Amino acid sequence: RPVIVWFRSDLRIQDHTALATAARQGPVIAVFLRSLPHWQRHGHGANKLDFWGRGVAVLRDSLDGLGIPLLHRDIDDFGEAPATLLAIARETGAVGLHFNREYPVDELARDAAVIEAFDEAGLTASGHHDAVAFAPGELLTGKGDYYGVFTPFARAWHRQLTPERIALHDTPTPQAPIGLASDPLPGLPELADTPIDGRTWPAGEGPAADRLERFLRFRGRHYAAQRDFPATPGTSELSPYLALGMLSHRQCLQAVLAENDGALAEGDAGLTAWVNELVWREFYRHVAVGFPRVCRHRPFQRHTEGLAWRDDEAGFAAWCEGRTGYPIVDAAMRQLVATGWMHNRLRMVTAMFLAKHLLIDWRRGEAFFLRHLVDGEFCANNGGWQWAASTGTDAAPYFRIFNPTTQSTRFDPDGRFLAEWLPALADLPAKARHAPSQDLLGGVDYPPPIVDHRAARARALEAFKALTPD
Ligand code: FAD
Repeated sequence: RPVIVWFRSDLRIQDHTALATAARQGPVIAVFLRSLPHWQRHGHGANKLDFWGRGVAVLRDSLDGLGIPLLHRDIDDFGEAPATLLAIARETGAVGLHFNREYPVDELARDAAVIEAFDEAGLTASGHHDAVAFAPGELLTGKGDYYGVFTPFARAWHRQLTPERIALHDTPTPQAPIGLASDPLPGLPELADTPIDGRTWPAGEGPAADRLERFLRFRGRHYAAQRDFPATPGTSELSPYLALGMLSHRQCLQAVLAENDGALAEGDAGLTAWVNELVWREFYRHVAVGFPRVCRHRPFQRHTEGLAWRDDEAGFAAWCEGRTGYPIVDAAMRQLVATGWMHNRLRMVTAMFLAKHLLIDWRRGEAFFLRHLVDGEFCANNGGWQWAASTGTDAAPYFRIFNPTTQSTRFDPDGRFLAEWLPALADLPAKARHAPSQDLLGGVDYPPPIVDHRAARARALEAFKALTPD
């Protein structure tokens, strides 16, 4: 009798824990529950939803090649998942269900409800820890708590990692026909925003594997030196593929092992720095489970709950639209809106600018990022925002406030990134692009800074000092 594999943000057939496990049990039927209204309520925007849909189409073709039909259902709410999956199990005579776990609170609750419903129906539903090397709760501090700081977490991760934890799962061999065809896939309905051109981020395992290979061949060893310079393609740009599971972290780590004489923690400085970022990704997933308040719009650092964020609609609009008068912030925000992606250095700079210079609630920025990012992923996005706002784990100490102009001169020294995204500034001498004076701008249409760095910094410090630590 068949077994169901429920695909979610794990759109691949290679190295897929649930699929590999199910295929050992019997013929497989794949299911995708498109939960558009629920995902939209979670804040995912058109770019990610479009990429998700294109990823499912590629997945269906790959599954067809294995003789596995993909059933597609639309649901409005996660609450409909148990009944929808049980109905499919009954229609197809399936004995059980496998899926790879997702970690934010709502997803955990949805999955627990599915497991319970299957159990009550005398069927089994099994969740697998696929997107992490260690299940949340497996790595704990000496006191038995979840780690709230990255460095000791990373140390424990490396110390306790065994080869089995990151061994690749076999791709199933094609199965005999089971007399069930894949469903046609519905297109994406009209959304509030129009998605960016799909060619920017081609979906599927093929493009993901190509990018990984190119990254490791040409950039991996230079990663530590180049990762902070947004004008240089120094990072992997794999985040959308990792976020939707078109590539697994194990595939990334195995590729590093092959390039780095079998080591992850030592050896080439570029490759080990890259591994560290994959560990950050895992850390924020553990944080979401260990400190579920972060999934409920609450700060990790409880004492920052009372911070006096400013209401400043004009400031927020200027930030969103890339017209703050700080070129590095504006160029970055334009990159985000145009491509659905922003360089990590600039995510830190723009997030800190909103939370500190404008003293606007970081949750508004978090939501704006999610609306535009093609790699929008709750754990990493929330972790990054809370870091920048000094409300999170490893938070930047509140008095650490990037000077956007210094960041610009340091990380875009020849103003190339600025010229690319702010063509109005491209004719200025490179050095003048970072903080163009109105004199120099002449007739060029570019706004003056909406806040003065020193005054804004002082205002933010005062707001943080007014808080009582836990
Ligand atoms: P690389 O430098 O090549 O890193 C490899 C992979 O490691 C990434 O693809 C990503 O999966 C992971 N990674 C890298 N840095 C981090 C990090 N700091 N935290 C967690 N995982 C990381 N990343 C997302 O995937 N989705 C988000 O929604 C997201 N929002 C962010 C918001 C803010 C405010 C900040 C500061 C960071 C955010 N990040 C997010 C983390 C990071 O900026 C991106 O993962 C990275 O820029 C993606 O580019 P890349 O694939 O070239 O990364």
